[in-house]
Amino acid sequence: MKKELAKAYVPQENENDIYRLWESSGFFNPDNAPLPKTAQTYTIILPPPNITAKLHIGHSAMLAIEDLLIRYKRMNGYRTLWLPGTDHAAIATQMVVEKKIFEETGQTRHDLGKEILLEKIWEFLRNTQSEILGQMRKLGASLDWSREAFTLDQARQKAVNRLFVEMYQEGAIYRGERIVNWCPHCQSTLADDEVEYSEQTTKLYTFKYAPDFPITISTTRPETKLGDTAVAVNPKDERYQKYLGQEFSFDFVGQKLTIKIIGDRNVDPDFGTGALGVTPAHSMVDWQMAQENDLAVIKVINEQGLIREGFGNYSGLSVKDAREKLIAELKEKGLLISEEEVIHNISTCYRCDTPIEPLPSKQWFVSVDCPLERLGGKSLKEKALAVAQEGTLKFIPERFNKRYQDWMSNLHDWCISRQIWFGHPIPVWYRGAEIYCDLKAPEGEGWVQDVDTLDTWFSSGMWTFSTLGWPDNYRDGKKFGDLANFHPTQVLETGYEILTLWVSRMVMMSMFALGEMPFESVYLHGTILDKHGKKMSKSKGNGVDPLVAINEYGADALRLSLLMGSTPGNDSRYSADKVEAKRNFINKLWNIARYILAQPGVAECQLNSDPEPKTIADRWILAELSITISEVRKRLDNFEFSLAAEILTEFTRDKLADWYLEIAKIEGGKTEILNYLLLAILRLWHPFIPFVTEKIWQSFQTGVLMIEQWPTFNLAVDEQAKSTFTFWRDLIVAIRNSRSANKIAPGVQLEALVFSVNNQKDIALGAELITKLKTGLSSLTFVNEDPKPENAITVVVQDTIFYLLAAIDPEKEAARITKEREVLEKLIFNLSERLANQEFVSRAPAKIVDQEKEKLAAYQLELNKLKETIL
Ligand SMILES: [Zn+2]
Repeated sequence: MKKELAKAYVPQENENDIYRLWESSGFFNPDNAPLPKTAQTYTIILPPPNITAKLHIGHSAMLAIEDLLIRYKRMNGYRTLWLPGTDHAAIATQMVVEKKIFEETGQTRHDLGKEILLEKIWEFLRNTQSEILGQMRKLGASLDWSREAFTLDQARQKAVNRLFVEMYQEGAIYRGERIVNWCPHCQSTLADDEVEYSEQTTKLYTFKYAPDFPITISTTRPETKLGDTAVAVNPKDERYQKYLGQEFSFDFVGQKLTIKIIGDRNVDPDFGTGALGVTPAHSMVDWQMAQENDLAVIKVINEQGLIREGFGNYSGLSVKDAREKLIAELKEKGLLISEEEVIHNISTCYRCDTPIEPLPSKQWFVSVDCPLERLGGKSLKEKALAVAQEGTLKFIPERFNKRYQDWMSNLHDWCISRQIWFGHPIPVWYRGAEIYCDLKAPEGEGWVQDVDTLDTWFSSGMWTFSTLGWPDNYRDGKKFGDLANFHPTQVLETGYEILTLWVSRMVMMSMFALGEMPFESVYLHGTILDKHGKKMSKSKGNGVDPLVAINEYGADALRLSLLMGSTPGNDSRYSADKVEAKRNFINKLWNIARYILAQPGVAECQLNSDPEPKTIADRWILAELSITISEVRKRLDNFEFSLAAEILTEFTRDKLADWYLEIAKIEGGKTEILNYLLLAILRLWHPFIPFVTEKIWQSFQTGVLMIEQWPTFNLAVDEQAKSTFTFWRDLIVAIRNSRSANKIAPGVQLEALVFSVNNQKDIALGAELITKLKTGLSSLTFVNEDPKPENAITVVVQDTIFYLLAAIDPEKEAARITKEREVLEKLIFNLSERLANQEFVSRAPAKIVDQEKEKLAAYQLELNKLKETIL
């Protein structure tokens, strides 16, 4: 089935067809894999991109890494499942659509009503969703589309309801009043990690509540002091000890306040006046103190960010206006002692930057500390911490284990209800004070369902098992179907910035639902920055559309540029130059294949076993291939994608193309080996650059490369051939370099006198290659004594001297050799230092130390020879 390869590879003309070929083969779906059902499975669930916008370059990097892993494992005989999906991203999506509608028509969601807004959101969603899925295909992602999921589709709805009900029944979900992070603009609660912090200059006011109140306090939010019920001081602070436990009632700007003096060890006596006004309703910390000291909670600010009813002239004022009014009043009464500018950490909404109002509110929470029967009396937090502490959950890079544990240890109950319309409804109904929680609405009159929706992370936290058929595939503690086959998954590959938001929640929810981890390893990638190291953003206009890059350079080039030069957990830079360089390499690979396939018989050759090497060069290239296969495997198994690609590039470009193909032209008779080498590099490269390798494969092979066996290491490394060939190569390179240093034109043929004590046999064996591989030597004559000819270029490699007979400038040649000598001396010095370093010698593997010693001996030999020739 040989089809000649086109002169040049044009990705734009081939990629869509190749993707269709893969898709129609059915092999994206592990059920169709030509493997026994007992074959080990390997699963990655794609982190579902938000349907708020098209994919950016960061998503492309994620897809390139995951597809690399999946294709690599698929070629290694695993039943691989890579499951695609998208995330409804509740609050983010609603905000985007609301903003869009407001810009186009000036209408708000309240003008439209819930039904119409939701319709508009679904319409928006269908467009972006299909666009996103199309982008994934463009990149070559070998996802099993038959299992595609969406966080808000029917199957996921069922799973979400079921888990909510189970958690409620078990006591892991409760409704309670607690301080939440409230965004007055989004009109919704935010999770702790959806709150951002920024330093801002603000005023710190120091004042007294009333003339006869004995303690002065400081605050940046005087308007909330209308709801103070205590003043907290350090119990050791002698200034205030006498007041501890006392209560004071007085008028504070027209409001009656009753303040109790309480002791709290966390109050810093040296900060401000050493006394804090406690506002239980509007501060997390103060809420905690109120719980511990049984203080009254007075709500001052409402959900709109206005002062509530019951505060006289203050009611109805915005927070800002209330603050101004209150300060003016304190000044007038002579109660304000000072105001100063301070830098203060302000919490803001991650969606809209509005300052957060901590408010007490009735919300639904996941209890992270409550002991649960089904977890053997352990809490969700304890379970999620244990897997990281024991190391059963692996982090790549390892340093994120600590970050995960730190965050997990400080985790508070997770507020999961959101006051938005787009999302999973809460399976709870109310009738008066009655609460009913179940999969279906209760019978009877007068029940009203909770109007809130669930935090988007609740449904994405279930992603590994809700996509594999939970709860239907789980009965009496047993897994069935996909859940049994593919859960726990092997790797979660995601950005380090959602380690806390997402990864931790997935662990807790999987522990609760299935009693097992959602994944074995978490690979965290960094952020892709622009070429100047700046974050990409729409507003800065420095973002890169992956489709534009693919159109220009091809998907393979984009993939390879994202895989190379990036390391786990670290940010990396994107540049078009880098993609172009990878495009050039891919062209090189194409030309290598084209050249090999043009050799008579190579394309038709059918090898049933490893080829028989005939020459030293054959033995050498097969040895190098073996080493490459095992090194690339080691790197890939270790998630070192960039290093793996570098090793493969070196083999393909330097060893195969620059040396072996040149040798093949001289030695001839290499049909089988060339066929073997080409098949091997196509298989090795396929997971990195699937399109071009498949295209080449299709030109002379049957079946799809995608499910071919990844090369195995079945040839022992021929050390002897390797060392002989390396000696020749060093000689050839040294001859080429010294000729060009002496400005000898390439066409000029030179005679060589060879003086070698120990290597004469090897040189004779390699004479053909040594004279013909662009060395311009007309003949080699062996001599038994150093002839030291007058007009000659001197080339020294190990114990061997080549004199290239030519009329040259002796002074220049002497200078060149002196320079060469200096370089050698420096190398010897450095290596000796290294080997004299006890720490290195004791720590490095014995093999490495031996290699370094051999290298040193060879340099010394060479230096001695060089010195002899100058004398
Ligand atoms: Zn907001």
